[in-house]
Amino acid sequence: MAKKKRSRHKKPVPSAPQTPPEQAKILVRTPPLEGKAAGAERSGKRPTWRALWPAAAGTAGAVGAAVLLYLAVLKPKPILVQRNESLNVLLVTLDTTRADRIGCYGYAKARTPNLDALARNGVLFANAYAPVPLTLPSHASILTGLTPLAHGVHNNGSYVLSYDKLTLAELLRDKGVTTGAFVASFSVDSRFGLDQGFDVYDDNFQEGSPFKALNAERKAEQVLEPFSNWLDRIGGERFFAWVHFFDPHLPYSPPSPYRENFEADLYDGEIAYMDFVLGEVLLKVRDRGILSRTLIVVAGDHGEAFGEKGESGHGVFLYEMAVRVPLLVYGEGHLPAGRVVQARVRLIDILPTVLDVLGMASPEGVQGQTLVPYIQRRSGGRDLDVYLETFYPRENFGWAPLTGIISGKSKFIQAPKAELYDLAADPAEEKNLAEREGKSLSGLKARLEAVVQAAGGTSAEAAPRELSADERARLRSLGYVDYSEPGAKGDADPKDRLDELKMVQDAEKAEFEGNFGLAAELHEKMLALRPGAASSYVNLALARARQKEFDRAVATLKDGLDRLPGNELLMSRLGYTYLVMNKWAEAMETMGELLKLNPRSIDALTAMAVILDGTGRKAEAREYFESALSVEPENKFLRVAYAGNLASTRYLAEAIAIYEKLVIDFPRDTALYRALGIAYGIGGNFDEAIKNFKQITYIAPTPDAYYNLAVSYRQKGEIAEAVANLERYLDDPKDEPPAKIERARAELQKLKSIK
Ligand SMILES: [Zn+2]
Repeated sequence: MAKKKRSRHKKPVPSAPQTPPEQAKILVRTPPLEGKAAGAERSGKRPTWRALWPAAAGTAGAVGAAVLLYLAVLKPKPILVQRNESLNVLLVTLDTTRADRIGCYGYAKARTPNLDALARNGVLFANAYAPVPLTLPSHASILTGLTPLAHGVHNNGSYVLSYDKLTLAELLRDKGVTTGAFVASFSVDSRFGLDQGFDVYDDNFQEGSPFKALNAERKAEQVLEPFSNWLDRIGGERFFAWVHFFDPHLPYSPPSPYRENFEADLYDGEIAYMDFVLGEVLLKVRDRGILSRTLIVVAGDHGEAFGEKGESGHGVFLYEMAVRVPLLVYGEGHLPAGRVVQARVRLIDILPTVLDVLGMASPEGVQGQTLVPYIQRRSGGRDLDVYLETFYPRENFGWAPLTGIISGKSKFIQAPKAELYDLAADPAEEKNLAEREGKSLSGLKARLEAVVQAAGGTSAEAAPRELSADERARLRSLGYVDYSEPGAKGDADPKDRLDELKMVQDAEKAEFEGNFGLAAELHEKMLALRPGAASSYVNLALARARQKEFDRAVATLKDGLDRLPGNELLMSRLGYTYLVMNKWAEAMETMGELLKLNPRSIDALTAMAVILDGTGRKAEAREYFESALSVEPENKFLRVAYAGNLASTRYLAEAIAIYEKLVIDFPRDTALYRALGIAYGIGGNFDEAIKNFKQITYIAPTPDAYYNLAVSYRQKGEIAEAVANLERYLDDPKDEPPAKIERARAELQKLKSIK
C-alpha cells in the first residue's frame, strides 16, 4: 500500500533494567503545579484524598468564581502567549467526561484537584464542544482538526481514518519530535487508523489475551505505566504524547477506595480516580524537570447522558450533555494562568492552537482555528459555530442520522422532526422552537447546509451523505447494515424510538451486572425487531456464550450468516466461539474463510497462529504470527506467543530479541523475565539467565525463580550459589509440583556432597 509508512519502536532501546525496581509507591506526593498536595494516592486501602484535600469539599465550585474575581480586579491588558517551537506537547483525553462534573467547571461534589489545579494555573475553556458524541470520530477530530465530514470517520468500529489525512502526530514527527500514544479502549485501537504518526502506539488493553473484545478497555493506571516507562526511555528527546483515559465510560466501576467513597455516584468516582492518575502523569512530567517545557492540553472527547431526554450513555443524540466537554490548556511561562475563556470553541481547534503555540502554521484544509487570540484577548472573542453529527442512530439502529449546528444562541438539529433550541434561555433544551421560529430555523438550516457543502459533503437534508460503495460494503461486512438506504423516506426519528433505545440500554446494563439470562432475553427481542443487523446476532450469541450455552451461540451466529452471508463480524465471532469450544477444525475452517475475505483480519490471523502452534505445526504457525504482527506490532499476546514459538523451534536469538523488547515494555511482568531467562539458559548464556531470574526475585519472588537460579548456577559451576537457591526454594515451595520438590531435595543432597 502506498500509504505513509508506520514506524513503531524505531528508536534504539536500552537494555532491560537490572536494578531492583521501585518496590512500593510513595504514599504522599507533592503536586506538580502548586505548593500543596495534588496527587492523592490510593496505594493503601483507606482513601487519603480526604486528608490531603481537607478543603476540597465545597471549594471546587468556588474556584471558577475565585478566578473570575481575580480577573476582575486586574486592569484589562492583553495576556501574552509566549510561542516556543521547542515545547513538548502532552495531550490528555478524558473519555465520556462531562464538563459539568468537574470542580473547575462549577461542580461542587467533584473531587478533581488536578484538573482544578490545571485550570487555576492555565486556561479553561468554559464552552467547548465535541463535533460528535462518539469516541473514534471525536478523537479523529482532535488529532486532525477536521470535523467528521472532512476526516470521514463517522462511527466507532466501522471506519478507519484514511491514511491521506494528516494528524498532529505526523506533523510533529516530521519536525523530529518523538511521538507516543497510550490509549485505553478498543474504540481507538490502532486498527482504526489513529496510530498515524506515532512511533509507539500502545493499545494493549487486555494484555496477554489473544483477542481484543469490542468493549476492551484498561484502567487509567494501566495507561500511566507504559507512558511513564516511555518517558523514561526517550530521555531528553522532545516529545508529543497522547494519553487517553477511558474510565468514566460505562460500566461505572472505579477501583477502591473510589468505589466506596462514591457509592452514591460511581460516575463521579470514575472521574475522581481518573483525576488522581492525571495527577500522577503531571508528577511524572514534573519529576523529569520538563513541566515548564511542556504544553499540556486536556480535553474530553464527548459527554454522557444520565437519562436526560431518554438517553443513558452517549451516541444517539446531540444534546448538550453529550457534546459539551472540558477543555484545559496549560503552559508554564507560555500561557497565562487562571484564564477563563467564555467563548464557544471546539475540539477541532486543538490542533491549530497547539501548532500556533509551537510557532507552526496549520496545514491547508484544517477546519479548526487557533485559539491563541482567544487566550490573549481580554474580551475572549466571538462564539464559533459548531457542526454536530451522529451516524450512530442509523448505523446501529437503522434510524435517521442526526446533524446539527450551534450558531449564535441557537442550536438546530436536523432530524425527521427538526429541533431548535435557544441555548441561552433554555440550556436544558426543553422547548423545541422549530415549529414556531420558522425564520431562524431556515437560517440555521441554510447555515448547516453551507457547512456540509463547504466540507464537500452532500445535502444535510434527510441523508447527510451518500456512502461510497466501498464504505457500504465495509459497513455491511462489519455488521452495520440495518439502516435504510440513504435518502429513503420514512427513517424513524431516534426520539420516537425511546422504547427500543431503552431495551438496548437495559440489555447492556444486564450484561454489565452479569445478568446474562435477562440480556439474552432482551437481545432476542431486539433480534426480532432488527433481523438484518449482524450486531443483533452477535449480541445474542455473546449473551448465550456467557451463560456457557455455546451450541446455542453457534446456532445464533449461523442463523446470522444465513441471513447475512460473508459477514466479517459474524464469521469472526463464530470462529472465536469454536475456538473457545476447542473445536479447532471448525475454528480453522471459519477463520480460513474469513481470511479469504479480509487477509488482514487480526482475529483470524491470531486464531490460525494459535491453533497451528498448539497442534505442533510450528512453521505454519510462524507465518500467521508474522502476518498478525504486521497488523498489530505492539500486541503483547502475539509477541509473547511468537517468541515462544521461536524459542521452541531453536530460533533462540530471534526469541531473545523479542523478549528483550518485551521486558522493556512490560518491566514488571515476571513471566517475561522467566521466559527470557530460560531462553538464555537453553542457549548456554547462564550469566544472562541469572540476571533475568534475579529480576523476578526483586519484583515478586517465586519458588520457581529460585529453582531456575539454582539450575543456572549449577550449570555455571557455582555450587555454593546453587545450594543457597535450592535452600530458598525448599524453604517455601508453595504450590510447586511434588516431583519437582523431590528433584530439588535430591539435587541439594548431591551438591552438598560435592561441596
Ligand atoms: Zn469516548
